Amino acid sequence: MLDKNVLEYSETLKKLGINHSILEHPELVTVEDVQKYLGFGLDEALATLIMKTEKGFVAIVRRGDCALDSKKTKKVLGVESLSMATDDEFRQITGVVPGAAHILHPVTKVIIDEKVFEKEKINGGSGSLLYTFRYDVGDLKKIPQSQIADVTKLTVSTVINKSNRVFSGIRATGRLHLGNYLGAVKGFLELEKTGKYETVYCVVDVHSITTPYDKEALAKNKREIIIDYLAAGLDPKKSIIIYQSDVPEHIELAFYFSSVVNVARMLHLPTYKDKIKQHPNAVTMALLNYPVLMAADILIYKAGLVPVGIDQEPHLEVTREIARKMNQLYGTDFPEPVRFATKGEYIPSLTGEGKMSKTIAGSYINLTDSLEEIRKKVRSVPTATTAGGEMSSGVKTLFTFANLFMPEETVKYKKAFEDGTLKFVELKDALAEAIYRELKPFQERRAKIASDTKYVDEVIRDGAERARKIAKATVDEVKKKMGLI
Ligand code: ATP
Ligand code: MG
Repeated sequence: MLDKNVLEYSETLKKLGINHSILEHPELVTVEDVQKYLGFGLDEALATLIMKTEKGFVAIVRRGDCALDSKKTKKVLGVESLSMATDDEFRQITGVVPGAAHILHPVTKVIIDEKVFEKEKINGGSGSLLYTFRYDVGDLKKIPQSQIADVTKLTVSTVINKSNRVFSGIRATGRLHLGNYLGAVKGFLELEKTGKYETVYCVVDVHSITTPYDKEALAKNKREIIIDYLAAGLDPKKSIIIYQSDVPEHIELAFYFSSVVNVARMLHLPTYKDKIKQHPNAVTMALLNYPVLMAADILIYKAGLVPVGIDQEPHLEVTREIARKMNQLYGTDFPEPVRFATKGEYIPSLTGEGKMSKTIAGSYINLTDSLEEIRKKVRSVPTATTAGGEMSSGVKTLFTFANLFMPEETVKYKKAFEDGTLKFVELKDALAEAIYRELKPFQERRAKIASDTKYVDEVIRDGAERARKIAKATVDEVKKKMGLI
């Protein structure tokens, strides 16, 4: 159902003869994420800046891959001072939230950068974070009070990644928790739903052996994660769902990649440092190679988009470096993958320290936990207040959860916290119930899928077959280009 304001805006545009179609997406804030989700580059995005000058406010509409050139802009506007409006001023002037600006700004002058007109179609905000309008660029000349001018320069950093594959994986080191679900699996689902990408989702069982593990538990957990994927709603007809070890080409490619990776670079990664702190007696080659294997997982499918939590950003940086190095040295055509971020990209630990992790006891709530277990775990979050009455990290954690699981009630609890009248146990119990409400349908679906052994086996077998075809082609190409065949 379209938002009433979005419909009104669409009508106004139609009356002005500005042709457009309306695209729908999940709630995404940055222009970059919207474009990635819709399958376009930043060069096909309109980004509006509201700027303050001594003569008043002005709206500047430019392409997402162009940065404002303030010298040129001041000259065009004939002003001395030019600064960004604050978020509040933005809201007042545009009447919409930051990130969703329209192209019509009845109360201000509008400057449209001339590079916008190098495109045929372009996407712009709709006033809602759930919709984007795709315009015929020629029609933008009909925007009232607008002027076309050269006010930007191109930025090189926004290389457009045209890959239409998506890859992501989760280690089989335990049962899935809220962080895995909100930071990763929700992104898997959103990208699968677009129908625009070939999505490959993996249980990275080989990555699980890079830290100490129990072999019976690994064998059990890896299957449980496939069941979690299916219960979360992944559709094996749409996505390729696999165990990493069923496609041994990942490991072969990782070894080839390791020939272009510097050891010192791996030793300095924050993720490596965290893991050796967690397991000081298990500093292995496998652990050092973790990011190289992850690069192989992604690049073997030439995936351009990777739905993972923010903790994985350093590994994606390594993946891009490997892609660039391989392309330079051997003429391969690997994309430089980017992260697809969700609202839950960082879910804090219940201990009030660091992130929720499968392998850190007491840090997580599993997707399969009962209401009783969830209540007990949420009650364990430390809520001692700091001397100045500021939020301690445990309290911040509770409010992060409240924002995600019961956004309407958060304001009430926040106010009580500020007034000093908040009873933490009430907030905690309400939170436990809200979390359980979200997980209950998942748990019900899960029970059905888990009992259908044949179906799960078939998903795993079929996924491996489809994935190996793609993986083998990439490995053959790399071997040829590296002089191995
Ligand atoms: P481990 O302790 O074994 O490293 P983990 O909980 O960190 O387990 P991973 O298998 O390493 O889970 O990561 C799986 C996916 O879940 C990745 O995309 C990762 O970014 C995401 N993820 C993990 N923890 C969180 C978190 N706390 N918040 C958001 N996303 C997370
Ligand atoms: Mg991890």
